[in-house]
Amino acid sequence: PSPCSLLFSFNFFTAHGGVTFFFYVRLIRRLAGKIAVITGGASGIGKATAAEFVRNGARVVIADIQDDLGRAVAAELGSDNACCYTRCDVTDEAQVADAVDLAVARHGKLDVMFNNAGITGSPGWPPLGAVDLADFDRVMAVNARGVLAGLKHAARVMVPRRRGSIICTASATGLCGGMGAIAYSASKATVIGLVRAVAAEMASSGVRVNAISPYAIPTPLALATVASWHPERGLSAEEIKRMVEIDLNVMYGTKLEEEDIARAALYLASDDAKYVNGHNLVVDGGTTVSRSAKNPGTSTPKE
Ligand code: NAD
Repeated sequence: PSPCSLLFSFNFFTAHGGVTFFFYVRLIRRLAGKIAVITGGASGIGKATAAEFVRNGARVVIADIQDDLGRAVAAELGSDNACCYTRCDVTDEAQVADAVDLAVARHGKLDVMFNNAGITGSPGWPPLGAVDLADFDRVMAVNARGVLAGLKHAARVMVPRRRGSIICTASATGLCGGMGAIAYSASKATVIGLVRAVAAEMASSGVRVNAISPYAIPTPLALATVASWHPERGLSAEEIKRMVEIDLNVMYGTKLEEEDIARAALYLASDDAKYVNGHNLVVDGGTTVSRSAKNPGTSTPKE
């Protein structure tokens, strides 16, 4: 990590004169000089991660389909060429390739690919008998096929340099049944499978591939999804946020936030994780290993 020093001073006055104290604060910028692409970087976890990466010295390309939001986030984070936005629908392999190539053309290399874009699919949580296979295809196209495209094209530019870190957002729902709709759960289990398969192949190239599996965080995606599970209850935005943030929370005294995932991504992106490959970093407060997990499925309407 490259440290960056800040100098502070303050004056202390007594009846006999003044004394000036100087303080050095050494900020560790764990991604200094690194170049990252973040899909789904316009909102939620991706946006928080873009901010964390920029704070740590990286230059970030936000790749998303929300153009206005993506540009605004890039402008907010992007003084000194630190962040830019490009439109990239991850269901289109050519657009994923273009986002990777943009990072290389603009900054000369790609160190970190965060395959994070995701959707939960049609509103509601249909039981098996009502599953819409077209919805399954749409969810898999973004969450699984989109991740595979990101893996493929990031590796294309990382393998020749024999270094790089690829991180893919899976989910606690990829580890346990009964936590989300079938298509979504299956797509996230697929992400974990892709990470393992690709990490095994990439190890000999010096490129690391890992997953992060978050639990519930009140991002636009999660809020809309949980609201759609209970349409008949006419819940307010505050009540839905409370369900995601508090009711589903298993850990005493704290709650899960986008920044927790951003810091997990920072670790996996940085050289601190230089020997971590093929790992699924579960950030769920112990939900998926806990017998006391508050299973949202128990309160979910089945039609
Ligand atoms: P979010 O809605 O805030 O962000 C998702 C982003 O993905 C949006 O900016 C959206 O425009 C983008 N996106 C959607 N489809 C896209 C496409 N085809 N191409 C490019 N970008 C696309 O939600 P979030 O919670 O920050 O979601 C980020 C990731 O985290 C997703 O993969 C999601 O499944 C996963 N996740 C979220 C939670 C949670 O509770 N919020 C939990 C576990 C996993």
